[in-house]
Amino acid sequence: MTAANDEPFDLVIRNVRVASGEAPVDIAVRSGRIAAMENNFRCDAIDEVDGRGYLAFPGFVDSHIHLDKACILDRCSICEGTLAEAVRETAKAKATFQENDVYARASGVVERAIAHGTVRMRTFVEIDPRAGFRSFAAIKRIREDYAFAVDIEICAFAQEGLTQEPETLAMLDAALSDGADLIGGCPYVDPDPEAHIEAIFALAIKHDVAVDFHLDFSLDPALTHLPQVITATRKHGWQGRVAIGHVTNLSALGVADIDEIADQLAESGIALTVLPATDLFLNGRSHDRLVPRGVAPAHRLARRGVVTSIATNNVLNPFTPYGDASLMRMANLYANVAQLAGDEDIAEVFAMVGASAARQLGKPHGLSVGQPATIVLLDAKDGVSAVREVARVVAGWKDGRQSFDNGRPRILRPNGRIERHDI
Ligand SMILES: [Zn+2]
Repeated sequence: MTAANDEPFDLVIRNVRVASGEAPVDIAVRSGRIAAMENNFRCDAIDEVDGRGYLAFPGFVDSHIHLDKACILDRCSICEGTLAEAVRETAKAKATFQENDVYARASGVVERAIAHGTVRMRTFVEIDPRAGFRSFAAIKRIREDYAFAVDIEICAFAQEGLTQEPETLAMLDAALSDGADLIGGCPYVDPDPEAHIEAIFALAIKHDVAVDFHLDFSLDPALTHLPQVITATRKHGWQGRVAIGHVTNLSALGVADIDEIADQLAESGIALTVLPATDLFLNGRSHDRLVPRGVAPAHRLARRGVVTSIATNNVLNPFTPYGDASLMRMANLYANVAQLAGDEDIAEVFAMVGASAARQLGKPHGLSVGQPATIVLLDAKDGVSAVREVARVVAGWKDGRQSFDNGRPRILRPNGRIERHDI
């Protein structure tokens, strides 16, 4: 043992569970990294925390959120509740966005996400002649200002088409030279979806970045651009760097068709994100009863090896007039809508807001010696219980520094006694 190792650790979080069914461990932290994980670890530490048997995991990963257009319900009207209306209403509002306005709304959402245990997110930011670079400038500031708690990557996003508006392409190109981390497209709003897909890939190749498409938002399996995305991914050798979001028409397919598509996605290294809150809100508006759910069966795809995630998408706007940026809630919503009951499926759902979502973003996600000490505590015995019970998020650390603390619930009995209660 060297002299340096005899010095006290910076932090030890005692009595936490890291794997289902195993005895609690103590996690010791030095210089922002996990230095030891052992049962009843004897050590001195500058800061010591009682983990009370909570589940410790590496935090939630939101693979798909739109910080720039969050919290604009007061500027939009929702009459139809359709995708077309949401795009139209948001485009109108977007033209009036100012940098400080975007910053204020986005920071509120990011702070809620932090308190809900999110440690990493991919945010889309619309860059086009209406938004200019104002939203982009604001979200770059957010990325920097909240790096103490959450790693944010910025996807420069063409929400309203490319081929009919070539200025957008040049603006996205400029953003990728100026701090955007990846490129996002939306073929279904473009008059020439195939050219749109190719233009997005051309930018990805030029800047050597990943691609994320909003894809196939309908209930009609015949209306699909998935074959073109698969072909382009293989042609350009972009396997492992392509994600697709929504793909709600998969909800209209039978198991055999889903399995066939799953195999193609797995072979092509294309990840899939479901956005249950939005997919449920916008789909099936022509039905006045037995409304289709419109949520792609991510768990079926995961079973065949597709990298899948569940994400927030929108918060309080015409795409989703609800939201609190809680991935714990979103995981539970998906499991409920997908009618899942078995532990294996529910464990996969927990991964879709954690380990699998991180894999989609090409980032590590694990608690072991040598890894960054980014740790979130959940009031649950394991991930399956967390999803079933919408577990309370207790506290979190990023790189060894505590980034939030939600306190402990208190039951106030009528006799006036104040009890701290371990629920
Ligand atoms: Zn989206």
